[in-house]
Amino acid sequence: MSRPVILITGGSRGIGAACAEQAARSGYDICFSYVSNPGAADLVKASCESHGAKVVTAKADVSSEDDVLAMFDTCEKELGVPVALVNNVGVLGQQGKLVDFTAERIAWVVDVNVTGALLCMREAARRMSTDRGGAGGSIVNVSSKASTLGSPFEYVDYAATKGAVDSATIGLAKELGPVGVRVNCVRPGPIHTDIHASGGEPNRIDRVAPAIPMGRGGEPAEVANMILWLSSDEASYVSGALIDVAGGR
Ligand code: NAP
Repeated sequence: MSRPVILITGGSRGIGAACAEQAARSGYDICFSYVSNPGAADLVKASCESHGAKVVTAKADVSSEDDVLAMFDTCEKELGVPVALVNNVGVLGQQGKLVDFTAERIAWVVDVNVTGALLCMREAARRMSTDRGGAGGSIVNVSSKASTLGSPFEYVDYAATKGAVDSATIGLAKELGPVGVRVNCVRPGPIHTDIHASGGEPNRIDRVAPAIPMGRGGEPAEVANMILWLSSDEASYVSGALIDVAGGR
């Protein structure tokens, strides 16, 4: 019997890599994307293959429609139509106040986090929807607890893009419910990944941990657990949900 196929954007590091590892252990074949670091992607690929998964990687900037189409086409050609999309890519810029942000920086964050996420949702919807010949499936968007907190003095632009991801989840779950596709969203709190270095504070979690009710940052695998559960048939009646994996924050 063929294995189900999962497509994970940004699978070469952090939460996406943890999703790929867990998907491999759960019996999926995997297509995952990266954008700048093929070496890191190769390491994740080899680790997933050691669990018996067939793995295809795709270099794709999710803010480029051409790249997104090519990524889905590669997945379909090499492995088959995915039953699950983990819409994971997200970027943030240097910490600061909105008054100091350039138009270029804001446009980049919006392009990747909103346009990119919507393009990936659209492609998954086109290929999975039963009214278009698909077999149904699941989309899990990776938002952030920042959508509810606003990230003042850090990255209000990033928080706003995650609010957009939350809204798209709610709307798309309603559009796609009748055609066999569940759409959900996971909102992580501070998780130990490289993303904090992009904001200029690699040890950010040490600073914010005292304000987290559980007193610590999360591990990528703790987020992946929820994403893989939402992707699975165990969550067969869950759609339109925004689930916080944020240590009670
Ligand atoms: P990360 O460690 O920075 O990894 C980002 C991944 O996305 C990498 O695989 C990277 O590929 C890829 N990527 C970056 N820009 C891309 C683009 N334009 N197109 C395609 N791929 C791109 O991130 P993370 O911390 O795991 O975060 C994953 C998701 O969780 C994001 O949506 C983030 O907003 C969200 N989140 C994270 C936290 C946290 O504390 N870590 C908290 C809340 C929400 P390369 O390695 O090739 O560059």
